[in-house]
Amino acid sequence: MTKNMPLPTGAAVRVEQLTRTYDVGGQLVHAVAGVDASFPYGTFTAVMGPSGSGKSTLLQTAAGLDRPTSGRVFVGDTELSRLSETALTRLRRTKIGFVFQMFNLIGALSVEENISLPLRLSGARPDRRWLAEVVERVGVAGLLHRRPAELSGGQQQRVAIARALAIRPEVVFADEPTGALDGETASSVLALLKSMVDDHGQTIIMVTHDPVAASYADRVVVLADGRIVADTPQPGIDRIAAQLTTLGRVQRGSVAVA
Ligand code: ADP
Ligand code: MG
Repeated sequence: MTKNMPLPTGAAVRVEQLTRTYDVGGQLVHAVAGVDASFPYGTFTAVMGPSGSGKSTLLQTAAGLDRPTSGRVFVGDTELSRLSETALTRLRRTKIGFVFQMFNLIGALSVEENISLPLRLSGARPDRRWLAEVVERVGVAGLLHRRPAELSGGQQQRVAIARALAIRPEVVFADEPTGALDGETASSVLALLKSMVDDHGQTIIMVTHDPVAASYADRVVVLADGRIVADTPQPGIDRIAAQLTTLGRVQRGSVAVA
C-alpha cells in the first residue's frame, strides 16, 4: 500500500472475547482473559502492562502463532479459527510480520538470506525494489553478507525488522522490539516502524515497557491480568508513565485506569 491509496475500511485485526488459558501442572493460568479489541488499518498501537499481564500471549494469538482457548481472531475479514494449519501458515506468511524480542534469526544463514526467507517460504515473487528500500531504511545494506553472530544486538534487531517487512505484511506484530537496544538504535527502529504506518498504511501492534517507545504509537492499550484496563488515544509520555505507576500500585482485580 502507498500513501496515495485509500486504506481498506474496518479492522486489520480484531479479537472478540479472546481467552488463552495455560494448564501449568493442573493449575490454570488465564494469560488472556476475555479481550475485545479492534486495530484499524493504518494505526500504530502500543500494548503495555506489567510483566505476566498477557501481552505476548495476546500478540501471539492475534498473529495466529498460537491458538486461543476461546474467542475469535480476525485478520482482515478472515477468522483464524476457521483455517486449517496450512491455510493459517499461508495467511501468516503473506499478511503478517512478527518481530520477536530475541530476534530469532537463523544463525546458519546470512543477513540477506534471513531477510528473504519469508518471501521464499511464501512463494511470492520478490519485489527487489521494496527489498532494497527496506534494507536501506533499516540500515543493514552494508551487512547483507554477514551472519547474525557477527552483528550487534541492535543490528540483529534491524535485520529481524527487515525480515518482518520483506513480505510487505498488512500487519506487523512486534514484541518488545526495542527492549534489547540502546536508546539511539531504539529511536531509529521506532521511527522506522512509525514511518511504515504513515507512509505505507501498515498496521502495527507493538508490546513495549518503555513510555518513550509507546509515545511513537497513536494509541496505548494497557493490560493487567489478561484484561484491557486502559485504551487511550495519543497519550503523552507523562500520562503513559502515570498509568503504569498507578497500575503498579493497585491491587490485582481492582484496577480502574481511565
Ligand atoms: P507478558 O508478555 O505480559 O509478560 P505473557 O503473555 O508472557 O505475559 O504471560 C501471561 C501469563 O501466562 C503469565 O502468567 C505467564 O507465566 C503465563 N504463560 C505464558 N506462556 C505460557 C506457557 N507457554 N505455558 C504456561 N504459562 C504461560
Ligand atoms: Mg512478554
